[in-house]
Amino acid sequence: MKNKKILVWFRNDLRLHDNEMLVEAIAKSDSILPVYFFDPRYFENTRFGTAKTGIVRASFLLESILSLRKAFQRFGGDILLVQGKPEDMIRDLVEQFDIAEVYHHREVGPEETEISGHVEDLLWTLKINLKHFIGHTLYNKEDLPFPIKDIPDVFAQFKKKTERDAIVKACFLTPEHIDFVENADWGQLPSLKDLGFETVAGAMIEKYATGGEDSGLQHLAQLLEAGADIYLKQNTKHTPEKPGFSSRLSAWLTIGCLSPRMVYWKVKEAEGVFGLNANFSQIFLGLLWRDYFRFMFKKHGIAFLQETDLEKDIMQAIERVDPALEKWKTGCTAHPVVDKYMYDLNATGFIPHSGRLLVATYLVHVLKIHWTCGAAYFEEKLIDYAPASNWGNWASVAGIGKDARSKNTFDLNKQIKILDIAVADSPSFA
Ligand SMILES: Cc1cc2nc3c(=O)[nH]c(=O)nc-3n(C[C@H](O)[C@H](O)[C@H](O)COP(=O)(O)OP(=O)(O)OC[C@H]3O[C@@H](n4cnc5c(N)ncnc54)[C@H](O)[C@@H]3O)c2cc1C
Repeated sequence: MKNKKILVWFRNDLRLHDNEMLVEAIAKSDSILPVYFFDPRYFENTRFGTAKTGIVRASFLLESILSLRKAFQRFGGDILLVQGKPEDMIRDLVEQFDIAEVYHHREVGPEETEISGHVEDLLWTLKINLKHFIGHTLYNKEDLPFPIKDIPDVFAQFKKKTERDAIVKACFLTPEHIDFVENADWGQLPSLKDLGFETVAGAMIEKYATGGEDSGLQHLAQLLEAGADIYLKQNTKHTPEKPGFSSRLSAWLTIGCLSPRMVYWKVKEAEGVFGLNANFSQIFLGLLWRDYFRFMFKKHGIAFLQETDLEKDIMQAIERVDPALEKWKTGCTAHPVVDKYMYDLNATGFIPHSGRLLVATYLVHVLKIHWTCGAAYFEEKLIDYAPASNWGNWASVAGIGKDARSKNTFDLNKQIKILDIAVADSPSFA
């Protein structure tokens, strides 16, 4: 086709490096139209009475999009910013810009796949193809030693076989030249207020990380420069006062400012310089956990979380106004460690893995509140919220999921000990 234009629909892939979708769109078109939709569904309230996106993550998102915009501007183009549901807005764009094909990265969360399903249906009526890419995981599904349907449900088996038989691909190169469609108006970046946040921007947020590809790459570089020094010293056994090593890469990974493969290969490089160390191994292990939950959702869909009467339990939990839940959310449980972590979560959007395990254990096994209430609150507050990682980890704390009973996944006895709660007060979990 002459003058072929491809619409590149950015979602949680806000980067130029290691971006197969972008590389292929540039190669297969004469010009591209990068687009980001501010979908109002992501700024609504949930049935749990929580917001789908809190102010910390919204702020990180805006910074990340601004960073991508600046990167495209350096190539002489831009990204079109659209307010509205993609399935409502994309028809006009396809017609206005004479688009031949639409590219996007496939997601695994049920809400995300439903949205791309709507877009695909709409494009189908226009005889336009929606091409799916896989760019969120360390291992592409075709690089795994088993088809999705046969992926082991037990994490230890998934890890063993994947590490032994799968390969991590090299990163796709960052483009050196991009041709953009002609366009006069690329749209304004909305403010937090435009997205429905009433608070004065920044006033309530304790800045923990700045969104964007550049700041993500910078954080990774600093982390690895310090790899043999500061971060090693932090690699102590977990105690509430010393939560152990945490790379703090998750916010950039979640929104796609960093690709997991880029992290992997940079850590491998650092290993070449500093030698093997426990912190580097923890990052590799974390990336595998991240893949595991995504692949579990791909394999099982929402059934990964299914317990008998899940819907009924959720409705009961929602209807029950439980003061203990409010105290947990606001860090007023009177358990100092839980409260400290909940304070940090509310202020910065981040707590390390050990902290997440503790507050989740406390909610589910001590307060006996349904785990979905905690997961929904994390969805609002976390700067790095990712559907598969969040709901998957919560489910495993609650003893649900396909690998629920393995101590490799979640050791309740250990968590109760760390919480330092008298055994008599702790639940029975034989
Ligand atoms: C209840 C609960 C909810 C969670 N919700 C989320 C979430 O919404 N988003 C999220 O990214 N992680 C989530 N996690 C997993 C994990 O706690 C965070 O990824 C981690 O704390 C991020 O800090 P880090 O970047 O320093 O991790 P590191 O320990 O340095 O690990 C490196 C990377 O590996 C990945 N990773 C590590 N552990 C896990 C894990 N158990 N599951 C999935 N990915 C992992 C992350 O991308 C992380 O950035 C949750 C864990 C629990 C117990």
